[in-house]
Amino acid sequence: MDSRPRSGRGQAVRGNDDNAASRSAVGHRSTGDLRHVARKRFGQNFLVDRNYIDRIVAAIDPKPGDNLVEIGPGLGALTRPLVERTGHLTVIEIDRDLAARLAAELDSSQLLLHVADALDFDFASLGRDLRIVGNLPYNISSPLLFHLARYESILRDLTVMLQREVVQRMVAASSTSEYGRLSVMLQVRFSIERLLVLPPGAFRPAPKVESAVARLIPLREKRPYIADEALFARVVSAAFGQRRKTLRNALRTLASEEQLERAGVSPGARGETLAVDDFVRLANLLA
Ligand code: SAM
Repeated sequence: MDSRPRSGRGQAVRGNDDNAASRSAVGHRSTGDLRHVARKRFGQNFLVDRNYIDRIVAAIDPKPGDNLVEIGPGLGALTRPLVERTGHLTVIEIDRDLAARLAAELDSSQLLLHVADALDFDFASLGRDLRIVGNLPYNISSPLLFHLARYESILRDLTVMLQREVVQRMVAASSTSEYGRLSVMLQVRFSIERLLVLPPGAFRPAPKVESAVARLIPLREKRPYIADEALFARVVSAAFGQRRKTLRNALRTLASEEQLERAGVSPGARGETLAVDDFVRLANLLA
């Protein structure tokens, strides 16, 4: 995984200071105006179930002064209660119409709005000790997780909602069918916990699948030493490239049988049988 953050191309927008009616909406506990037509291309499934919204906010446990960033605020279901608790929130929204609604509704002293694509946003520009949260657009969940993982050194935590199946892959143990590249590349950097499962009915429009909330906390000093991050990423990708292949074949261009054996890895095994530490040991031996 490339550890260099890409530059953001977001435009910071301020909320409308003069809109008194909008200011009062900050404390309003509605789930927002649903007259907006959900855009499929932006993965828009809006949270409408008050009970789940409260449980997600409680799981985030936002405190005044937190450097809190929400990806994809949408109609503001999480945004309003988060702003209520922290007093200030940075949001990144790709949909200009939704961004304009939020800018009109929330006070500029409480909301810093970036109209931008989170996939190439430079999160390092937001300072340190970041708490990133969001009901993420499901159509870009894996690339967005990989992008966010680059910022592990400036993250306090990441609390995100995704398709349940993606969260299963994130937390999967080796030798299970869900275990793969996403599991290894995230687990080598973060401890990951599944917090909540939500039914399709908690959203409008309702997605076809269940969703789940996961919390990721950087491992920091417990993070295994990786001599060459790019090589590690290549080894992991190749090992899971064709799941049916033995490591002897899948890693043919990267490691000899003798090197596999020296790393304590059986050449006849498949990638999914290797624990995260096995991948680290193998990649470090090849570096
Ligand atoms: N947070 C709201 C909620 O829970 O009701 C909306 C969640 S909806 C699943 C995803 C949100 O992410 C939408 O507001 C969508 O416009 C926004 N979005 C989609 N792709 C994005 C991207 N690449 N960068 C930033 N925001 C994005």
